[in-house]
Amino acid sequence: MKDTLKQQGKRQQLVKIVEAKGIRNEQVLAAIGKIPRHLFIDSGFEGYAYEDKPFPIGADQTISQPYTVARQTELLEVKKGDKIVEIGTGSGYQAAVLIEMGAQVYTIERQKELFKKTSLFLPKIGYRPKKMIFGDGYKGLPEYAPFDGIIVTAGAPFVPKPLMEQLKVGGKLVIPVGEKVQIMTVYTRKSEKEFEKKEYGEFRFVPMLEDKV
Ligand code: SAH
Repeated sequence: MKDTLKQQGKRQQLVKIVEAKGIRNEQVLAAIGKIPRHLFIDSGFEGYAYEDKPFPIGADQTISQPYTVARQTELLEVKKGDKIVEIGTGSGYQAAVLIEMGAQVYTIERQKELFKKTSLFLPKIGYRPKKMIFGDGYKGLPEYAPFDGIIVTAGAPFVPKPLMEQLKVGGKLVIPVGEKVQIMTVYTRKSEKEFEKKEYGEFRFVPMLEDKV
């Protein structure tokens, strides 16, 4: 896979941009500095890969903005070996970041084309999620629960109950909640019955869609 000096240079600039926007987690910054984001974007548009912007990846979907990926990952407080579910595999970039952090990643995508494309692509460039699943993220993954962390990368109109239920005590759910604009929300499971909720400002995501599969 091609990764030129110019691309590597632009990638280090992207790390600086994301850091300047407030990301402090060294492992998150290292992951952004390492992952060849230009390979996650359709060829022909690679020149934009290292701008801090979302980008179309086909099937009406987008690869999230690097700052957003960094912020969500930081809020998830991933530790090595953590078992994490991602809802919305998309291009696989967020999954690659989680894998770089040492997580065991389960990732769900409801769009068949994207699921197929990314399932082939990620291992090809050396990123191996524990499982890539074609399915509906609203249900989570009861068969593999409980999880140390759940990260939703599409705008959720409400917080799906199964996701709360599938968290370990001490685990975190990072989810952008809202219709047109989303509030980045983190739920930490304090005990079997108690959750702490914190909010982290406005973001814009493509919508989390219900049941097609
Ligand atoms: N994490 C991705 C960003 C993807 S955009 C990346 O790093 O590139 C959001 C993705 O969520 C889209 O691919 C969309 O198809 C998917 N999605 C939307 N609703 C979903 C659902 N209910 N279950 C699983 N995936 C969903």
